[in-house]
Amino acid sequence: MVEKKINKNMKSLKKNSSNGVRSFFFFVIVLLFFYALMNGVIGNNANIEEVALSDVIARANDENGDIKKITVSGSDLLITLKDKDQPTQHSRKDASGTLYEQGLLNNCEGMTGDELKACSEKYPVVEYEEPVDYGEIIMNVVTLGLPILAVIIFFSYMMRQAQSMNKENMGFGKAKAKLYGPDKKKVTFKDVAGNEAAKQDLEEIVDFLKNPKKYEMLGAKIPRGVLLAGDPGTGKTLMARAVAGEANVPFFSISGSEFAEMFVGVGASRVRDLFSKAKKNAPSIIFIDEIDAVAHKRDARGGAGREDEQTLNQILVEMDGFDNESGVIVMAATNRVDMLDKALLRPGRFDRHVDVTLPERKDRLAILKVHFKNKPIDDDVDLDALAKKTAGSSGADLANIANEAAITAAREGHKSISGNDVTEAFERVAIGPKRQSKVMNEYEKKLTAYHEAGHAVVGHVLPDSDPVHKVTIIPRGHTGGVTWFLPPEDRSYKNVYELKDVLARAMGGRIAEKLIFGKDDITTGASSDLKNVASLAKEMIVEEGMGTETRNLVFPEEATGYYTISTGKPYSEKTAETIDKEIKLLSDEAAKRAELVLAANKEVLDRLANALLEKETLEEEDLPELLKGTTLPEGAKLH
Ligand code: ADP
Ligand code: MG
Ligand code: ZN
Repeated sequence: MVEKKINKNMKSLKKNSSNGVRSFFFFVIVLLFFYALMNGVIGNNANIEEVALSDVIARANDENGDIKKITVSGSDLLITLKDKDQPTQHSRKDASGTLYEQGLLNNCEGMTGDELKACSEKYPVVEYEEPVDYGEIIMNVVTLGLPILAVIIFFSYMMRQAQSMNKENMGFGKAKAKLYGPDKKKVTFKDVAGNEAAKQDLEEIVDFLKNPKKYEMLGAKIPRGVLLAGDPGTGKTLMARAVAGEANVPFFSISGSEFAEMFVGVGASRVRDLFSKAKKNAPSIIFIDEIDAVAHKRDARGGAGREDEQTLNQILVEMDGFDNESGVIVMAATNRVDMLDKALLRPGRFDRHVDVTLPERKDRLAILKVHFKNKPIDDDVDLDALAKKTAGSSGADLANIANEAAITAAREGHKSISGNDVTEAFERVAIGPKRQSKVMNEYEKKLTAYHEAGHAVVGHVLPDSDPVHKVTIIPRGHTGGVTWFLPPEDRSYKNVYELKDVLARAMGGRIAEKLIFGKDDITTGASSDLKNVASLAKEMIVEEGMGTETRNLVFPEEATGYYTISTGKPYSEKTAETIDKEIKLLSDEAAKRAELVLAANKEVLDRLANALLEKETLEEEDLPELLKGTTLPEGAKLH
């Protein structure tokens, strides 16, 4: 029985491929014929002369010899005499038939320019040429042709087979999931600094994967889906890989954005394939990165494409189809939990949520230590200070600073990373590279100095603002100068007074320009300040309920309902007007307070601006002296 079956298969293979085989043999015969022909023409060439090599060498080394040029080409020598243009062809073999190896000296070797010219007038130029080897060409064709033929036969056979099978088995829709097996560079929790809470949650998952029996015995349901949620760059992808690394299980990852590039129907079949691969390799982890790309709310405005919907449905179907013993855990990451289709978050799906947060100061220090670990740093590098001034940075930002610092050090030709390299890297990542080339004229420089001094003085005087950390008029990125304010510690909440002081100090730049130069339509220097004011003021009204008339009312844009349909906004036209009015109130108030503060502290403003003109950058330690003697005018007080 078995033999018969094999025979049958062989037969069908033969039948399918006999055409291909025939044309292949024809092809080979033509090539062999060609080879023989070429060999005949060249190999027994009657034009080849036997020349004594000793003679050629002697003539080549003779200052006044008669040879102009010798070209060595395989086993041939082409010799051009001084009084001839055409070379004659000679065999390079000696009497015994072996190729000579040495003796032919290129007297002009290594020379260039005039020297070479002078030399080549006396001695022949010796050139080496790759001979054309027809035998080799044919061998190449045969060695290439054979596998190609094998592939052709294989495919025609596959096509035959495939016709009787499901379309899906043809390799379409196979998940391109990357597999991080145990031998790939393993990421573990050690590589993830900070985020202790998230790691603790995930530790449990690792234990599930390592000892599934322990949980099954007690009738515990092993979680199926774990959703990592957090801002971009907070290390979600890193953590998912660390879970796989810790549990030592295969890790199948695919990114939501990859689904978006797929043809209709392919997304869903990729998902099917991904899950079946993971099940075969269980215990294992499936990781769907950036799941929001496929799993945004199906009824959201703008509408999810049907393709995404199919992909999402397939993910849900697969997750529902898991039995408890499958040993596969699905992890997913998103920056936007609020955008996700609620169906994903139901029990039995992604019912475990792990929040990955932006690092606090001590975590930032830990992350910086991880990324500076293998880099040589000078004693004056203060990672603690860097951690302090990077509030709001993600792990990815910090990794980026570490890398930029190394690049800066290398560019400067340093052997190790200096404190200045780190500062430069920080500012480069935060704002953009220094623009050394841009030369400011005196007027622009003065304007910028007063603008920045305005921010600094207003920020310094107002009681609920963060302290000034550094002021500079060195252009960077798109800005003419920068005033840094740094919170003494990280805080999750800000009160309305603090936010109003932020608005006022942002206005301080433009108001200072107006106060000193007397015009209101100056430069584009303040445009980003004004944008910041506009967006913060809007946030305060629309999201935080900090308006006067609208105190405690918020107007979330995503809300749906009656007004969404009629006005395109989740509130009435009248409310929209009120919101605009409230925003204007905030920004007017900010401008007024900045004006009062600067008018009351004009001397300090002048002093600071002049110091900036002189030194260009004022550090934290320079500032207290310069900002001495400020007063807070009555009208600028809020409480
Ligand atoms: P996400 O997936 O949340 O956008 P990633 O995991 O891709 O962020 O993080 C990007 C990079 O930032 C990581 O490869 C790592 O170098 C660095 N990083 C982020 N968070 C941390 C952390 N907690 N510890 C160490 N490095 C981190
Ligand atoms: Mg990521
Ligand atoms: Zn400004």
